[in-house]
Amino acid sequence: MNSKVNDKRKPGFLAPEVALATFGVRTFGCQMNKSRSEHLAYRLRELGFSQAEKLENADVVIFNTCAVREHAAQRAMGIIGQFAREHKERNPHSLLVVCGCLGQLQREKLLEKCKEIDVLAGTHNWEDLPFLIQRAWWEKEKIVAFRETPPSLYEEKGYWHSNRISAYLPITFGCDNFCSYCVVPYTTGRQRSKPVEIIEEEVKNLADNGFREITLLGQNVNSYGRDWGREEAFEDLLSDIEKWLRGKKIWLRFLTSHPRDLRRGIVEVVKYSDCICPYFHLPLQAGSNKILHLMNRGYTRENYLDKVNLIRQSISGARVGTDIIVGFPGETDSDFQETLEVVKEAQFDVAYTYIYSPRPGTGASLLKDDIPLEVKKERLHILNDILRGIYQKKLPRLEGKIVEVLIDQKEGDLVSGRTANNLRVYLREAHALEIGEWVEVLLTPGEENKVYGSVER
Ligand code: SAH
Ligand code: SF4
Repeated sequence: MNSKVNDKRKPGFLAPEVALATFGVRTFGCQMNKSRSEHLAYRLRELGFSQAEKLENADVVIFNTCAVREHAAQRAMGIIGQFAREHKERNPHSLLVVCGCLGQLQREKLLEKCKEIDVLAGTHNWEDLPFLIQRAWWEKEKIVAFRETPPSLYEEKGYWHSNRISAYLPITFGCDNFCSYCVVPYTTGRQRSKPVEIIEEEVKNLADNGFREITLLGQNVNSYGRDWGREEAFEDLLSDIEKWLRGKKIWLRFLTSHPRDLRRGIVEVVKYSDCICPYFHLPLQAGSNKILHLMNRGYTRENYLDKVNLIRQSISGARVGTDIIVGFPGETDSDFQETLEVVKEAQFDVAYTYIYSPRPGTGASLLKDDIPLEVKKERLHILNDILRGIYQKKLPRLEGKIVEVLIDQKEGDLVSGRTANNLRVYLREAHALEIGEWVEVLLTPGEENKVYGSVER
């Protein structure tokens, strides 16, 4: 760390000095990570730091990292290294903080590759992190903080939501599923469910503050409460939230639903709800029972398709999204064909597709990564073509429908929003609509895989 005299960082009374320091966060990875960054921002503001408009202008630059796939992790390391070097030239007194899953998994490598790092913290140091940042800023001290296990009593509270109409709200932390390819249980620890009373306070606060949309987050929301021995706590939570929101117009979403744990009770609550959105993110991962077993997913293709049918038959207009991995060890052509068969049968509305990447410490990393990269790429290509075909075939069926859309994006003249069932709709005409407004939209023919509509008023 730079030890030159620094006006902004000389010791003194805490509040006025800290108030001069600004911070910026760049987040890699999933919504859960975005939410973690919002929590960190809230806590740093409480300590007197203020948020910089741009990362380039921040005194304290924070990278909240993701380790789910190797390629993304390498890319993140490159971005952090380059930004750190440029930023230390721009602002020699700045503080570089790296936290999140990569900090947990690969701290030696990060420290070796990026000497500019001042604070490196793992995923179980969230509680202390704002204080560590404060200490490093004051004491000009290099800090590496790493705990093996999460603090059991820590209850995360408070978020500085970066979007003023849509809020992420984590309801569980960690994951107990140990899918064999996945590093998340190792980087984030066992599942901890947030107490209902805290969620109640948070939901009511968001409602009072004019939020239009709340997305509950968890690696497997369906197992909410399992760590207290409750098997049906998620449907109870959804029903409770519905009651707390009664009389207010707010859409409630949730991610992710592990297919093994999706049950009729949850689908029924969504079916009869006025505010819970009929979109289910139900990661398939693979369509062959052999691969599903090797992945330790806990369901078969038949169980999976039963769940998709349950959703589609119970709730007309429900949409189903998925994640799929190609090239898992031992995936033969015929296993891959089985994935394609399930995809065609499930008729997914949304899909994220990935090439298998071995992660250190996971069960699958002990298997030989035996599918050549060319074959993995080819499979990904074929899969994406089929998914695109399914999507395109559905587009004309949407024409002429009237749907309700919550406006959430304005890019120049292009205004768009999402329906309750998670369909992005672009408005034909440039409207004087505000972000956060609900409008009725008549869907017109799509273009380039985009759905368009005209406002019905
Ligand atoms: N908890 C969620 C998502 C976890 S990570 C779930 O269970 O679905 C998001 C997605 O990344 C996963 O659904 C999976 O498709 C993908 N993924 C995770 N580990 C991976 C790996 N090692 N290689 C390739 N894709 C991976
Ligand atoms: Fe990873 Fe499986 Fe947990 Fe999702 S459910 S985070 S894929 S271990």
